[in-house]
Amino acid sequence: MATADLKALDSAHHLHPFTDYKALGEEGSRIVTHAQGIYIHDSEGNRILDGMAGLWCVNLGYGRAELVEAASAQMSQLPYYNNFFKSTHPPAVKLAKMLCGLAPGHMNRVFFTGSGSEANDTVLRMVRRYWELKGQPDKRWVIARDNAYHGSTVAGVSLGGMSPMRNQGGPLVPDIAHIRQPYWFGEGRDMTPEAFGRVCAADLERKILELGVENVAAFIAEPVQGAGGAIIPPESYWPAIKAILDKYDILLVIDEVICGFGRLGEWFGSQHYSLEPDLMPVAKGLSSGYLPIGGVLVGDRVADTLIEEGGEFFHGFTYSGHPVCATVALRNLQILRDEAVIDRVRDDIGPYLAKRWAELGEHPLVGEARSLGLIGALELVADKQSGQRFPQAFAVGNLCRDISFDKGLVMRSVGDTMIISPPLVIRHDQVDELVALAWQALDATAARLAQIKDKETPA
Ligand SMILES: *Cc1c(COP(=O)(O)O)cnc(C)c1O
Repeated sequence: MATADLKALDSAHHLHPFTDYKALGEEGSRIVTHAQGIYIHDSEGNRILDGMAGLWCVNLGYGRAELVEAASAQMSQLPYYNNFFKSTHPPAVKLAKMLCGLAPGHMNRVFFTGSGSEANDTVLRMVRRYWELKGQPDKRWVIARDNAYHGSTVAGVSLGGMSPMRNQGGPLVPDIAHIRQPYWFGEGRDMTPEAFGRVCAADLERKILELGVENVAAFIAEPVQGAGGAIIPPESYWPAIKAILDKYDILLVIDEVICGFGRLGEWFGSQHYSLEPDLMPVAKGLSSGYLPIGGVLVGDRVADTLIEEGGEFFHGFTYSGHPVCATVALRNLQILRDEAVIDRVRDDIGPYLAKRWAELGEHPLVGEARSLGLIGALELVADKQSGQRFPQAFAVGNLCRDISFDKGLVMRSVGDTMIISPPLVIRHDQVDELVALAWQALDATAARLAQIKDKETPA
């Protein structure tokens, strides 16, 4: 089918996720046709470096024949069977064993889902169920953070802290509260990062006391916020949060949907920050995005209670532990392990990216360049010294994103923050290419902004 026909049919029939339909209809979609390694290709013959690993998920890169072959063999063997009603199958069992072997030592059980959003729905139900079983049904409140992303189902939006999402289609799930996010560049530059980290943690304690300890079930957060803007918390943040949760005996849920499976240079972000979560929702990199699968890793404290005292847990999905998805996920984890991909993120390519990415901080448009492992962000500013932003109407982030795409690099924008999260298998020369393309995109964005400003300044 010709590109023009695909575009026309796409706008006639396809409602995309997170999309302004009218605007897209006028512009038309980019049609991605194939991919290899860290590059995607579109129907107009462009090769584009995928600096986002799809949507934070293609950790092994595109075109891994082992994953294709594993899926194909399992499709022939057993394309589907469920895990309800006292049944299971080898792929679900093997994946469960491997995941629990990789997770922190006290996590020995996993509940499978089809996605990260379903994993967070499961979290909400499980956390509240746990406290019911403990004879404290009032412990229902879950504390999350402003600007958090935990998925797009009703529970996901309710746990999330993004106001545009929360303001559509309410009311949301009750008894969920939000506290400050540890976003130093955006909200804390009047103090040191360390002091700001402690202020944000203190906000958790304030909220717990406001709600009443006897009413608070859990705190949920990502180790590093992904969709929120690749927000790397100050070093003081997590130790302070941990101390508060221990003090009040509140469950810790670490959303590993992005940080899990190597993004920060450990199997899980929790290990990077020495956290001992009670629950860890996972998805995305679990299968390197080749097939949809998610899950919740469950610590002994919660699992033992559900098992010993729970009776039936009335929850689950048709595709919980789907055999083909589980097979591909297992093969993906084996490759990450056997090729030492994650050690390489920590010891080699992560530090190399950090060094090269930091150079972008010299660009006149960039107020801060930060990275950890293979996640990075650039803060676009109008004034490098003061860090003042451009007027919102300029939509500088989107402008830079579109320019970058046209130059051959997928960077994502969150407001005026540019983000990368490339496949973990990216090579040194490809990091050089990524940084060079990002610099070109910044230059072109600055040039375009100069034109806009000239037009708006009266002669
Ligand atoms: C993507 C994401 C989710 C939702 O996962 P889906 O598979 O899109 O439902 C949840 N939490 C975090 C942190 C995510 O990045």
